[in-house]
Amino acid sequence: MRFVLIVLVAMCCALSTLIPGYAADDVPLAEQGVIDLTQWDFTDGEIAYLDGSWEFYWNKLLVPQDFSTKEKSPAAFLRVPGDWNNSPPESGQVSGQGYGTYRLKVKLSNSELLKPKGLYISSVASAYKLWVDGELLAENGKIGTDPAEMQPKNYAKIVLFTPKHSEVEIVIQVANFSQRKGGLWKSIGFASEETILYKRDLNVAYGIFVIGCLFIMALYHFAIYLIRRKNKSPLFFGALCLSIVLRSLLLDETLLVRFFPQIDWTLAVKVEYITIVLSMVFIVLFAHTQYGAEMNKRFRNFFVLVGLAFSLFVLVTPPRIFTYGLTAIEVYLLVSYLYIIAVHLLAAIRKRPGSLLNGIGHLAFLLTIINEILYYRIASSLGSLVPLGLLVFLFTQMLNLSITFAQSLTRVENLSAELQQINESLEEKIAERTVALQEANAGLQRANEELSTMEQSRRKLLTNISHELGTPLTSIQGYIKAMIDGIVKADDPKFLRLIYDKTVFLHRIIRDLFELTKMEAKQVPFDYSTQGLVPYVRKIYEKFAHDLKKDDLQFVLESVNSPIAGRVPLVSIDVVRIEQVFSNLLVNAAKYTPAGGTIRLRVGLLADEKWGGHAVISVEDTGKGIDEKDLPYIFDRFYKGSEQSRKHAAGVGLGLAISKEIIAIHQGTMEVESSKGAGSTFRFTLPVRFVPAEEYEEVI
Ligand code: ADP
Repeated sequence: MRFVLIVLVAMCCALSTLIPGYAADDVPLAEQGVIDLTQWDFTDGEIAYLDGSWEFYWNKLLVPQDFSTKEKSPAAFLRVPGDWNNSPPESGQVSGQGYGTYRLKVKLSNSELLKPKGLYISSVASAYKLWVDGELLAENGKIGTDPAEMQPKNYAKIVLFTPKHSEVEIVIQVANFSQRKGGLWKSIGFASEETILYKRDLNVAYGIFVIGCLFIMALYHFAIYLIRRKNKSPLFFGALCLSIVLRSLLLDETLLVRFFPQIDWTLAVKVEYITIVLSMVFIVLFAHTQYGAEMNKRFRNFFVLVGLAFSLFVLVTPPRIFTYGLTAIEVYLLVSYLYIIAVHLLAAIRKRPGSLLNGIGHLAFLLTIINEILYYRIASSLGSLVPLGLLVFLFTQMLNLSITFAQSLTRVENLSAELQQINESLEEKIAERTVALQEANAGLQRANEELSTMEQSRRKLLTNISHELGTPLTSIQGYIKAMIDGIVKADDPKFLRLIYDKTVFLHRIIRDLFELTKMEAKQVPFDYSTQGLVPYVRKIYEKFAHDLKKDDLQFVLESVNSPIAGRVPLVSIDVVRIEQVFSNLLVNAAKYTPAGGTIRLRVGLLADEKWGGHAVISVEDTGKGIDEKDLPYIFDRFYKGSEQSRKHAAGVGLGLAISKEIIAIHQGTMEVESSKGAGSTFRFTLPVRFVPAEEYEEVI
């Protein structure tokens, strides 16, 4: 902010050097139609303004000859610059409208004789004819004694001449039927030809510089608005610049008249008035777009409507009438601008962004407008500073705009970065979710497949159950019916035994089935304990050895040493359940192996790197083997093989299913290897831990 203020002050200083037309100190004043410039230094580049009291002849269009033939006593002396509306009563003038002749004698030192001089006449209301030392040198518009004859024109002129006498006589006929005020209302400059030309060049350069800047700014803001129509502030700002450009072209150096000499005076004055009112309208609209919250909408509409009404009034009435509205317009400008300043003050108090800078810009602009009003009331010698004020105002706006742009850009950059991050994480998330969905889908598909397999096996199971239960029940039914019918004796112990066996069998089926179902539903509590593998298997061997040998079978135990030196294998098992597995496998082996055959109980060990591993335990027999087509179903419930001999009809077909489930619960697997006639090998695994022998002793 401090930087901005410094730049602002520097800019004001730089521009102030360009302000033209300021009066020098110690300027001599004309008295009683004579100004004494004998002491004036024409070499220091300053303009002497011929201000003071001039001779004035109301309702007379006099020429220099009229003064040379007989010296006229002047009707009055009038102050220049000034309009003749407020002239003293002895001048005989009654209103702003009319015509008259001004005369001034300029006294020069003898050293200035024959040195080229110049007059600078910026504006006269509203037409004039000028003689210097009897020679007609300038004419602006057309002099006349009535409105029809007279033609107004406003065009800043330079008049060059060479004084031949120490007293230069200036005679100016002025006529006004066009506007409210008439007469020499602006100072007339007097200087060396060089100074006059230099000052005029400076004025033109200054005018073109300021107008050019404003014009480019107008285009720039219109372009911004066209690109982004949502925000109307550039539109109003551009319009403000453009209307000041138009106005400036008609003031001071009257550049527009210079470019287009035929331009209609009435039109030019109308544009001059309308642009000042419209400028205010645009300022109000612009301020509202910026600080809508601080500005009352009704006030805005009021100021805009009043401005438009003034414009309409100027448009439809002739300058003779609408120039009377100047005071009202000035009041309107001041009131509305004070309101704008108040709005900015409020915005600054509320710490709205840019409001302070904006307020300073507006204040600078307001000061130049006040100056403008004074200028028109002939109280300011600074000339029109509105374009300059607008430049300062414009500069503050541009700074604001740049700050807003820079901030927006930073915001956009931050947002983009955030967005990119969100995007990236979103992509990651989408990828994750996709994988999860795919997995879920695959899982669902698997679950579906499992469900349909389960459904199939459930149906098969039900069929099997009803079959398995049905068969012994039918037998029992048959026996009892025979007893009722008297075919057999009701107390025949042989039949009673048969019936009893069948019920025992039925009970076994139901018990096994119940147990298997519970195990599958993980509802059977397992009582794990740590066992030394080899001693445990040896115990099993010893337990079954007697029975198997009784059946004329050879029973062999083969065990390997621990693969890790100094460490021995331990298993964590439910000893009762695992014994059930051994029992099932060994009983089956015995069942299907003819006398003289061999049953081998083998223990193998596989170690991994982390002192863990697997025990592979197999029960091999030299029995009849299993048919290849039965192998895949051997672990299914109620599967008893396709060629079950009568001898083994008592089998339920649940033993292997239960065994496999018990091993699965112990984190192991079970499989079978067999070929018809060559015996079978049932193999299962159990996870083991290899522990140092000392610990092992403790376990035992
Ligand atoms: P079961 O109560 O009928 O023995 P299992 O589930 O234990 O039921 O066995 C299923 C079937 O697997 C048996 O009926 C038999 O056909 C076949 N089987 C099991 N063990 C052997 C084996 N050692 N040799 C040949 N067949 C076997």
